[in-house]
Amino acid sequence: MQPFTYSRPATLDEAFHLAQVPGAALMAGGTTMVDLMRGDLAAPSGIVDIGHLDELAAFDTSGPVLRFGALARMAEVAEDTVLLRDYPALAESLQLAASPQIRNAATVGGNLLQRTRCFYFRDGVSACNKRVPGSGCAALDGVTREMALFGTSERCIATYPGDWGYALAAFDTSIEIRSAAGTRTIPFTELHVAYGDDPAKETTLRPGEVITAILVQATPAGRRSTYIKVRDRQSYAYAVVSAAVALEMDGDTVRHARVSLGGVATKPWRSQAAEAAMTGVTLNEQTALAAGHAAFVDAQPRGENAFKIELGARAVARAALVVSRRI
Ligand code: SF4
Repeated sequence: MQPFTYSRPATLDEAFHLAQVPGAALMAGGTTMVDLMRGDLAAPSGIVDIGHLDELAAFDTSGPVLRFGALARMAEVAEDTVLLRDYPALAESLQLAASPQIRNAATVGGNLLQRTRCFYFRDGVSACNKRVPGSGCAALDGVTREMALFGTSERCIATYPGDWGYALAAFDTSIEIRSAAGTRTIPFTELHVAYGDDPAKETTLRPGEVITAILVQATPAGRRSTYIKVRDRQSYAYAVVSAAVALEMDGDTVRHARVSLGGVATKPWRSQAAEAAMTGVTLNEQTALAAGHAAFVDAQPRGENAFKIELGARAVARAALVVSRRI
């Protein structure tokens, strides 16, 4: 790790000023930034720590728009009683992420900006277009078990790793962004970019911008929502596959469905194919699994990751059956 300066501004405006110094980087909870710095995957010359700024730490789940200040801690949001009752998929995605110690420190804004866990990216020596643009992609002819099925290109096939982002993709979510120049709000679907031609570009954030809040439109489908995560061990592991499903029902029939997938794409991935396959349908084991399979019709497996298609379809089906039977 190279030497760096550390500053702790009193306000966000002061932070913007300090962050203008070339080589400076903003840090929230630090769980990702410190990890990247220790692995020599980030080498800022100055850290501007904003993790203590209370102005960005509040959250409110009671109104027509749920508002999560970007610096709210994952553990606090996961224990919110309104979220647990009315939006269990969101609470569960936080509860199932990382470890208790990390959830106590990590923020809901910073969590969205995690970088891939692709081991070729993390090892610091393999060819990796994300770490060293133009150097190639060792994963293409390497071990592909963890790699993505959607949003890939011949330059990068790494998965986006965040449970919270996976679940937010099943809701009408937007992101409030601030910089010294002002505030703008974008749909959550526009925050992350599929790795495509430029794997080093992961978000549409501009230099000097910071996420200040996550906004979720209230919906009655929230109560019939869940997040299913399948992983290699039951704690402190990233999703091999995951699914968030939120349903509005007319008796036994699905009136409206929202479905998102995790562990299978280069960004949080909403599945409109699965939503269409559930809408107007009475869910049972067969119809739910058919909807799950619909989610993966366009999947592009590569070698060892083909098993994720059936596993992911079953995660979608299980989530749909669980919430369709909920009173
Ligand atoms: Fe790098 Fe992406 Fe290839 Fe992994 S999949 S080695 S992150 S370019």
